[in-house]
Amino acid sequence: MVDVLIVGAGPVGLAAALEAKRQGLSHLVLERGTVAETLYRFPRQMVFFSESKNIEIGGHPLVSQGPKPTRLEALLYYQRVAEREGLRVLTYTEAVGIQGEEGAFQVLARDRFGEKAFPARYVVVATGYFGNLKTCTYPPPAYPCARGPLEKGRRVPSDEGRNDPNGPVSPLGPPGPPANPSPPPRP
Ligand SMILES: Cc1cc2nc3c(=O)[nH]c(=O)nc-3n(C[C@H](O)[C@H](O)[C@H](O)COP(=O)(O)OP(=O)(O)OC[C@H]3O[C@@H](n4cnc5c(N)ncnc54)[C@H](O)[C@@H]3O)c2cc1C
Repeated sequence: MVDVLIVGAGPVGLAAALEAKRQGLSHLVLERGTVAETLYRFPRQMVFFSESKNIEIGGHPLVSQGPKPTRLEALLYYQRVAEREGLRVLTYTEAVGIQGEEGAFQVLARDRFGEKAFPARYVVVATGYFGNLKTCTYPPPAYPCARGPLEKGRRVPSDEGRNDPNGPVSPLGPPGPPANPSPPPRP
């Protein structure tokens, strides 16, 4: 049994594992992908809007070429911090359930060999938000991916993007000809 079992090896889960270690508590991190999987899946050329110092963990400096780190700089940073600190991370192991109570939890997890139960005194769920991608079909039947809050005075679809003529307007604009229509066929 570990003292603290952490679900998710993103920045928050890794920071929790670091803190547990520094407090002298045993820890184990279950991660359904690789370390910092969400960042791994970010757009390749992405630059964070946060400055490096604001997304550092455990007092380790995040050195970046610009004032704000790129996806690759941050991804390598979190993976190296986990490695250097010797954090116990089980990658490609997805937590699928939690049972029990304080002091005696069982976290059920699935990896490629099947399901296992991990006993823990405490559980930290650090599964984030941005790792859960919304998938789209192409071609879109009716702006299925557009959803979100009010933006710059325009109403943005709030549910599954149903194309209700009396309902909200897509942030992409109303249906119309494509921006780059294909040229007419030659006579
Ligand atoms: C394009 C983009 C730009 C962003 N820029 C910034 C920025 O500049 N500054 C900022 O602060 N934030 C930014 N964010 C938000 C950023 O994603 C979060 O701040 C950061 O990733 C949160 O860390 P986290 O550990 O909470 O979650 P995550 O990084 O999402 O980590 C959660 C982890 O849990 C794992 N997981 C999920 N479910 C399970 C499960 N059942 N079992 C095991 N593992 C599981 C996931 O694989 C993932 O590795 C940005 C997000 C996007 C999409």
